[in-house]
Amino acid sequence: MAAFSVFVKRFPFQSLNIPFIPQAIKNPTMPNTKSTKYLNSGNVIPLNVERGQIGWSMIGADNNTMSGRSEQVNTVRGISSTYACYNCCPDSMTDSAPIPLFYEFDVGQQHSYGFTAEVSNCYRLPGRSQFDGYDWFSSDITVGTIDYYGLATAIDGGTASMTGYFDEVSWTMITPTATCDRQVITVPGTGEMQVRPRVTSIEPSRGLIGNTIRVTINGSGFRSGATVSAGTGISASVISITRSQITADFMIATNATGGNHRVIVSPVRGPASIDSVNFFVQIPTSLVPFNAPNVAPNGIGPLQTPVNGNILGLSGQVLASNVTGVARNYAFTLADQEGQRIFEGFTFDESFSDYCGTDGSLPSTFSSQVPANRILGDINLRAVPYPNELSGYDCFDQTFLVKIGNTTYTLTPKFHIEVGRKDGQLIANRTIIQPGHTH
Ligand SMILES: [Zn+2]
Repeated sequence: MAAFSVFVKRFPFQSLNIPFIPQAIKNPTMPNTKSTKYLNSGNVIPLNVERGQIGWSMIGADNNTMSGRSEQVNTVRGISSTYACYNCCPDSMTDSAPIPLFYEFDVGQQHSYGFTAEVSNCYRLPGRSQFDGYDWFSSDITVGTIDYYGLATAIDGGTASMTGYFDEVSWTMITPTATCDRQVITVPGTGEMQVRPRVTSIEPSRGLIGNTIRVTINGSGFRSGATVSAGTGISASVISITRSQITADFMIATNATGGNHRVIVSPVRGPASIDSVNFFVQIPTSLVPFNAPNVAPNGIGPLQTPVNGNILGLSGQVLASNVTGVARNYAFTLADQEGQRIFEGFTFDESFSDYCGTDGSLPSTFSSQVPANRILGDINLRAVPYPNELSGYDCFDQTFLVKIGNTTYTLTPKFHIEVGRKDGQLIANRTIIQPGHTH
């Protein structure tokens, strides 16, 4: 009865593992030799093998025929080989190229450069594999560095070339000796490193429309020549740059879009930052009470109704002496569409309309220039020196206006005010009114 065995023969010049696990053979009878490894369990020949050779041996009568890559063994007459396939050389590499060709880094990020090559031998269909290069170097170490083996580190925003070398190995079968000849071509390759700067914060992060705001942008990877942008309506000019900080002037047009504008730093050549850091364009929107401890602890000072007395300011200073009537001392700040304070100076009008009293006249418009970082001060609204107190009372609406460029912003709130002597009593009423308010 014939017995069969399967063996895998390694190439004498090759030490690669053979990722081939054959099905088992039941009745091994062939002994191991130095160059032949018998896989001696099971009885099925595998359909394929990654490397090396697979042989099929039969021991017994030589009138049994076999086909394919095989040998037939007759232990009486000797061994008769019938290989149907020549020996195969190791993997050859062709068509190599550096990888990645382009790669975008964040500052501080690391990424490896290498090569990819087409790999094939006489058994395998071509496939691409990745390999390390060596002796890598950077065209601009201020943008990015790279170590000998291709590990690159992004330093500052910009673009640099990473060049390395790769030993492209190919094998050629020499006939008729059936030996493999190894050739090596050293191939250079270059990949591009593109480093985008990082923006982490901006200070101040808000500014009033129609104004120029000097801002400090914090981040990393900034280099000389970088530019700053913040969307439509903001013209940014860079004043100074360090690696982690940019000082710039934001000129906000009077028709700029209110709200968030993403701040973008772009290197001279390379990708722009993609961080979500915004500059907020403030639109004058409302008056909010200014809370000054010990001055206006509730933000709005009391309406005063002196009878031959003094009108005091928010900090206690005498604004008028010996008067009778009504005065008010509001402490306001201007706020934007999100209720946040506006620190820039502005032109401010208090406009009066819709008279409904008995004394006979509207107050004149109060116009004032409020300096930067200041609050709206006191206004003597309707008080006259004693004894010329009002005989009647005034009733009117009060509107607050801010003008920037050619645009007038009407603020909230508006007030309905009644001051004077009504039904024999001095009165001072202030009511917040809504749109549609009528008398
Ligand atoms: Zn009214």
